[in-house]
Amino acid sequence: MFRPLFNTRASSIAFLWKGLFMTIFRLENPVQHYDWGSQNAMSELFGMANESGQPMAELWMGAHPKAPSILADEQVALNTLVDGKTAHLGKGSLEKFGQTLPFLFKVLAAAKPLSIQSHPDKQQALEGFAHENHLGVPLDAFNRNYRDDNHKPELVYALTPFRAMNGFRPLDEMRPLFEMAGLKQLEEAMKWLGEGNLKAFYEHLMTLKGEEKDRLVAAALEFADTSDHPAWQEVQRLNQFYPGDMGVLSPLLLNVIELAPGEAMFLKAGTLHAYLEGTALEIMACSDNVLRGGLTSKHVDVPELLKTIEFDTIALSDLCLKPEQEQNGETLFISPVDDFLFSVIEPEKALAPLKVKTAEILFCVEGQQVIKAGDKSVELKPGSACFISAATESYQIQGAGRLARATAIL
Ligand SMILES: [Zn+2]
Repeated sequence: MFRPLFNTRASSIAFLWKGLFMTIFRLENPVQHYDWGSQNAMSELFGMANESGQPMAELWMGAHPKAPSILADEQVALNTLVDGKTAHLGKGSLEKFGQTLPFLFKVLAAAKPLSIQSHPDKQQALEGFAHENHLGVPLDAFNRNYRDDNHKPELVYALTPFRAMNGFRPLDEMRPLFEMAGLKQLEEAMKWLGEGNLKAFYEHLMTLKGEEKDRLVAAALEFADTSDHPAWQEVQRLNQFYPGDMGVLSPLLLNVIELAPGEAMFLKAGTLHAYLEGTALEIMACSDNVLRGGLTSKHVDVPELLKTIEFDTIALSDLCLKPEQEQNGETLFISPVDDFLFSVIEPEKALAPLKVKTAEILFCVEGQQVIKAGDKSVELKPGSACFISAATESYQIQGAGRLARATAIL
């Protein structure tokens, strides 16, 4: 049968030609229906319909090939538009981060706890990825730990009260939490905590098996029933979701933090963490490398997890990022990595044009805005987003409310 090759080619040429002049693109963003997701958070916050009634766990904004955003008017995937293209990513981004958009931006709405996890640093990811390739573990295999060779630092900005566990508690907080329960199954192991050897203590917990493990968890839960300490109540709560999992003891080891809406925290490589409940924006380096330590039906690899964990402690009060007020209505949340930059913009105060250094995604948190560059403009309302090409030198924002801005650091 004759195939209308000419038409296809003509339309793709028209698209490319038009693309030279179009710099702002309205996005349609795919929703991930993971089982821990909230059924109604995104509907309540952004008026997004949820006809199927499935959990709406994550909204992905980016060029990740697993679920790229789609250009709403052109119906082209964002990775198709930007991958390898200087005009869209910018020369600096291509040189520093490679062929694709270097960050992934998400809305995350958790109705129940996610797995306890840690992410590798760059070196570990490079080695782990090469090693699993060498062993011939398929990229999409259940037991694959390293799906790419990149690290995955994360930054979380709360949209509602957002609860999470992040980083080991200071030892002088951790010890009394275990001591108050007087668990005789841990009598021996407690000496490591006394000596400040957190690594040995944690390894002991994570490598307990069979009856030994069951007896410890049962004794801990018995104490949790009687305790009104918030950390022990959290143990009990986790056990309702993941009964008998060693991960339910995590609140005794890790900081339990509640971010107020508008607060942000950073999760560095090698930090043990788990999101518990709430809705947030999340920006991360473009990677899918997760090592899990419980509270999940997904693959758990304790020895590999132990290799990536940093056994340092952090005080709860040091977890929040300090916002830095910029001029022109923009507040920056600077993280310690030089991969991505996250900021929040109040359009009423953004009177001067915003300069573009590299590709960006703008997400409307509240209110309504028009984003303008040259003769191109895109309207945003809560829950919607647009992509701005690197070649756009600057853009203007009209409207009110709050926008979140995600970009790379060059
Ligand atoms: Zn994570």
